[in-house]
Amino acid sequence: MSTTQNVLAPNGLDSRPRAASVDGGSCRSCGAPLEHTVVDLGMSPLCESYVKAEQINAAETFYPLHVFVCDRCFLVQLQQYVPREDIFSEYAYFSSYSESWLAHARRYTDQMVERFALTRHHRVVEVASNDGYLLQYFVAKGIPALGIEPAANVVEMARRKGVQTLVAFFGRDLARDLAGKGQGADLLIGNNVLAQVHELNDFIAGLKILLGPRGVITLEFPHLMRLVEENQFDTIYHEHFSYFSLSAVERAFARHGLAIFDVEELPTHGGSLRIYACHSDDRSHGAGERVTALRARETAAGVNTLAYYASFEERVREAKRRILEFFIDAKRQGKQIVGYGAPGKGNTLLNYCGIRTDFLTYTVDRNPYKQGRYLPGTHVPIFAPEKIRETRPDYVFILPWNLTAEITAQLDYIRDWGGRCVVPIPHLEIIA
Ligand SMILES: [Zn+2]
Repeated sequence: MSTTQNVLAPNGLDSRPRAASVDGGSCRSCGAPLEHTVVDLGMSPLCESYVKAEQINAAETFYPLHVFVCDRCFLVQLQQYVPREDIFSEYAYFSSYSESWLAHARRYTDQMVERFALTRHHRVVEVASNDGYLLQYFVAKGIPALGIEPAANVVEMARRKGVQTLVAFFGRDLARDLAGKGQGADLLIGNNVLAQVHELNDFIAGLKILLGPRGVITLEFPHLMRLVEENQFDTIYHEHFSYFSLSAVERAFARHGLAIFDVEELPTHGGSLRIYACHSDDRSHGAGERVTALRARETAAGVNTLAYYASFEERVREAKRRILEFFIDAKRQGKQIVGYGAPGKGNTLLNYCGIRTDFLTYTVDRNPYKQGRYLPGTHVPIFAPEKIRETRPDYVFILPWNLTAEITAQLDYIRDWGGRCVVPIPHLEIIA
């Protein structure tokens, strides 16, 4: 890290001229010009654009993965380079393929029903409801629920589960339409959607409109502090436009008359926040001690200063060097390395590190949608998990490292032939 010390500008950020500069554009929260790079991961294809066999010789479009921080509201963000219809209209991520995520959804449902005393007289609305992985548990309890989801292919799955779902993008217009029909929400949920919203102010304005007078919003999103402190650079991809601290969300919400009254820190997706928000003038929710405490921790860490972001890029580069070191050493020893999982984050990591089939023979995924396809950019083939038993690799490189415990338990059998699991983040580790 010492190499960056002598080139830092007074604001604490790397001031060296960049060979390929990208126009930062303006902040999607406050509108200020974006001038400060957090990390430049180079060019990458859309991480959910899995390549079919018949497309394997076709050209792929690569877009910049260049992250900026706003020096006014400290929202960390990527510019939108791709129309949202190209990203989200056919989504390969079916939430229900992760057992731990389903368990998380079930627990959440029980907690909310108890805490807010929800009954069949209330209404729950989830934005980006995916395949109904969460709302199915409210439906089972007889609580009216409505999902909103732009990807038609996953909505079909939700409807089969009995979850009423609209195929639509959420924002001001849709919220007005629903609120006008008396479909205001007592509980308004958005899990892992805030990061994926380009028109942030339109989205938050929509939440404000759809929220009933005493309603509660809960949103879950990966916590920026965990990304920075645990080097989770691979969670940066084109589908994730923004990377939130509590402070940055509070500022954006306050602009629309919404206040955060509680926050929980969750282990999901490498460390997430669940925020609880209500109308700013709704005083029924108490003091918010956990909000005050986390806000203080963020301030003490420096999240609202440019200096906080200054060393991140060099740490990312060092992580790449360490990952490549592992692959080069193992391949020199004639080892076979395969992947586990085909998550979006894996595609950022493999493209940034330049790892293709010369290093990673194949990967596997439980999601049949991905099987038989190839990872975008790197063209690593994706098989069903049984392939691992057939080929007995020396190392299984776990791409969805946030699910390491679940996956290493599933892969316990590779020990039979001396196989070992490898986890790349926060730093490369070979699991004994
Ligand atoms: Zn800003």
